[in-house]
Amino acid sequence: MMLLDSFGRFHSYLRISVTERCNLRCVYCMPPEGVALSPKSHLLTFEEIERLARLFVRQGVRKIRLTGGEPLVRKNVVELVEKLAAIEGVDTLAMTTNGILLSRFLPALKKAGINHLNISLDTLNREKFHKIALRDDFDQTIKGIYAAIEAGLSPVKVNCVVMKGVNEDELNDFVAWTEHLPIEVRFIEYMPFSGNQWNKGGFVSFQAQLTQIQKKFPLIQAANEANETARLFQVPGFKGQVGFITSMSEAFCSTCNRLRITADGNLKVCLFGHHEVNLRDLMRSGGSDEDLEMAISEAVLRKKAAHAGMLNLVDLENRPMILIGG
Ligand code: SAM
Ligand code: SF4
Repeated sequence: MMLLDSFGRFHSYLRISVTERCNLRCVYCMPPEGVALSPKSHLLTFEEIERLARLFVRQGVRKIRLTGGEPLVRKNVVELVEKLAAIEGVDTLAMTTNGILLSRFLPALKKAGINHLNISLDTLNREKFHKIALRDDFDQTIKGIYAAIEAGLSPVKVNCVVMKGVNEDELNDFVAWTEHLPIEVRFIEYMPFSGNQWNKGGFVSFQAQLTQIQKKFPLIQAANEANETARLFQVPGFKGQVGFITSMSEAFCSTCNRLRITADGNLKVCLFGHHEVNLRDLMRSGGSDEDLEMAISEAVLRKKAAHAGMLNLVDLENRPMILIGG
């Protein structure tokens, strides 16, 4: 049972970062000076990613998400999607993207096998978008979201990181967006990573978000799927839903079923754990599938019961989100 940890959690969800590069510079995700990119030879090839994915699926993974950096800037990423979609046992093949290149890629992605999309959008205001992402690509992102809805990838999830003094005044505008669109807007608590200027003053808790929204909309709780990280709500009569990702204030570690592989080939059993296991070098030095399984199993068994808690995380070393792969 390679994917069962010592707390009885079975890991059926693998997130794979396919690049460290990005066409945006979101201030909450990366340091203002940017990140030092790994040389290309340090990144996993498509063949290596496929090999690892097959191994994880053989051991029970049923959901794979491609992320980054921005996954759509990885050259020929559609070919990788095809390879992963061909693995028997993958029920959900998802991608998290900033949406900029989506309208162009969508038909090919869908044909190749992507059946679930999360698109990041932190504001409904063009100028504010520029301030957060340091690029003027609001229109392209919106276009990507509508293209995904039209392509029938339902429900399209829209990820919004909530930050005090930046976009907390827009929560109700996002909720209003769910009236006629079959989207799930997910408000994400702002998380601290090395270099992202997180401070407690910028944090808006799930409870504070909920209170603000309930002043305007009668949110009712909606049914949650097992292992769903978002707490789901809905305004009666609205087409879409509203979710809250409470990673900081009410962590969901006890039901965590996720593992991550970074673009440079490290296995990370917890988003907030600094411990990483280098699977790339093991593969490149001729490691067998059994060697890989052993290394993965040991890492999974070392997974802790829970992360260090919101206030302690701030002081811990971790890589910036862009290098871990959200
Ligand atoms: N570039 C893609 C995108 O933005 O959707 C995929 C990678 S991005 C790192 C994945 C997700 O992580 C995005 O939804 C982003 O908003 C989220 N994220 C990045 N930094 C974060 C932080 N400090 N706190 C909470 N979420 C964060
Ligand atoms: Fe790029 Fe996504 Fe990070 Fe923004 S959140 S800088 S789009 S990787």
